[in-house]
Amino acid sequence: MAGFWPPDLQHPGKIGIRRLQTKVSPTSPLNFSRIIHILIFADSTPRQGKLLHEKNHKQDMSRDPEIVVIGGGIIGCSIARRLAKEGRKVAVIEKGQPGREASWAAAGMLAPLAETAQSISEPLTRLLEASHALYPDFVRELEEETGRDIAYQKSGSLMVATDYQEAALLAGLLVRLLKAGKPVEELTAKELQERQPGLSEAAQSGLFFPTDHNVNNRALMEALVTACAKQDVTFQTDTPVLALEAKGGRIVGVKTPGGLVRGETIINTAGAWAGSIDKSALVRPIRGQILCLQMQPQPLHHLIHCANCYLVPWPDGRVIVGATMENVGFDKSVTAEGIHGLLAAALSIAPVLKTAAIGKTWAGLRPHTSDNLPILGRGKFENYILATGHFRNGILLAPITAKLIAEIVLDGVASIDLDPFRYNRFSDSQS
Ligand SMILES: Cc1cc2nc3c(=O)[nH]c(=O)nc-3n(C[C@H](O)[C@H](O)[C@H](O)COP(=O)(O)OP(=O)(O)OC[C@H]3O[C@@H](n4cnc5c(N)ncnc54)[C@H](O)[C@@H]3O)c2cc1C
Repeated sequence: MAGFWPPDLQHPGKIGIRRLQTKVSPTSPLNFSRIIHILIFADSTPRQGKLLHEKNHKQDMSRDPEIVVIGGGIIGCSIARRLAKEGRKVAVIEKGQPGREASWAAAGMLAPLAETAQSISEPLTRLLEASHALYPDFVRELEEETGRDIAYQKSGSLMVATDYQEAALLAGLLVRLLKAGKPVEELTAKELQERQPGLSEAAQSGLFFPTDHNVNNRALMEALVTACAKQDVTFQTDTPVLALEAKGGRIVGVKTPGGLVRGETIINTAGAWAGSIDKSALVRPIRGQILCLQMQPQPLHHLIHCANCYLVPWPDGRVIVGATMENVGFDKSVTAEGIHGLLAAALSIAPVLKTAAIGKTWAGLRPHTSDNLPILGRGKFENYILATGHFRNGILLAPITAKLIAEIVLDGVASIDLDPFRYNRFSDSQS
């Protein structure tokens, strides 16, 4: 589970995740003259699906999209919105419905400081912090563009130790963070209880990260797709990209079951599936299961991280308990063992949740690379860009990813050095 040191659970279960019953765009993938945007989401309410926005949109027949984005998760939609706002004609091609995979399954933490407990590398730390700094504007703009409340909360996160070994790890982390000048407070057992009543009496010490935030990632996805549609981004849903089509050293478009969709720039944001379109995108899925508890009034005031789980309080009384880390391929089952482990860990760190109602469970696939860094930048063709492999932090990393990829498309170069994130770094280490 993903607390501050995640063991791998390796037991796929048999409970399937409910899939959204979609309304399918009746357009042929080749016919851009009348694209019908049908944006469907399961949002933060118990409904599984909701028709949000449907509009007929006249496109200029004479032009293919300039930019084809493969995959309508948070990364694809953030990039599409940014480029469309710069006047580019963008099409998102999505095998299912936008925002229904990892970006929907996530817990919504924007917690770069808590993430440092995972011993992440310097380039990732810098990327997380840069994206975190962009978040207030990202959320404000999206809320203004769409009129939606994204439930962006700046309540900070607590990291809690319940035994000597964990306390020693937190002490080491504290030294590291203070040395790096990061905002962190050390808390005694008493201070922990004052900060968060209802914690386990075993909680003996903790750290508080005041600048860690969280967001309702489903509301965020919903807003992003609406914002994209307002910028005339077209969505081809239920349309898998089968392959890239290359000619004369360039990608000329992407193959779909309905034919070739041409584009001047192709951006692969297919998350855990990016490698099925382009083998040089070395990502693999890491399953995360989540359990949702419900309690009124919301008993938790902060994100809470402990050794075997994290707890994310949403303003509506839900507590997201996450998450397993499992290398089980493209299997999104929810298992008895996974949920049992999450529930036991949650009750053991926060007994105040004992009377909470059990809500939904779900699982998603994090796009993981072997060095835990995303893949960002040009791929093996000059007009082909990759933005995938965001692993545990894709919600947090969306604004900086959109900014950097838009810079490559618009200016030819990104404003920060993307060398640590290049797609072919893995072959270097093999040679
Ligand atoms: C349980 C869990 C908890 C998480 N919690 C957090 C968190 O708290 N904070 C955080 O920052 N991150 C979190 N993450 C990580 C985050 O969810 C991911 O890093 C992020 O969603 C990746 O976004 P994406 O757009 O790359 O991928 P996705 O959201 O998976 O989107 C990829 C899209 O591409 C589409 N696609 C795939 N193949 C094709 C194809 N051939 N043709 C067309 N479309 C295709 C898919 O259908 C999908 O919609 C969590 C992840 C999980 C699973």
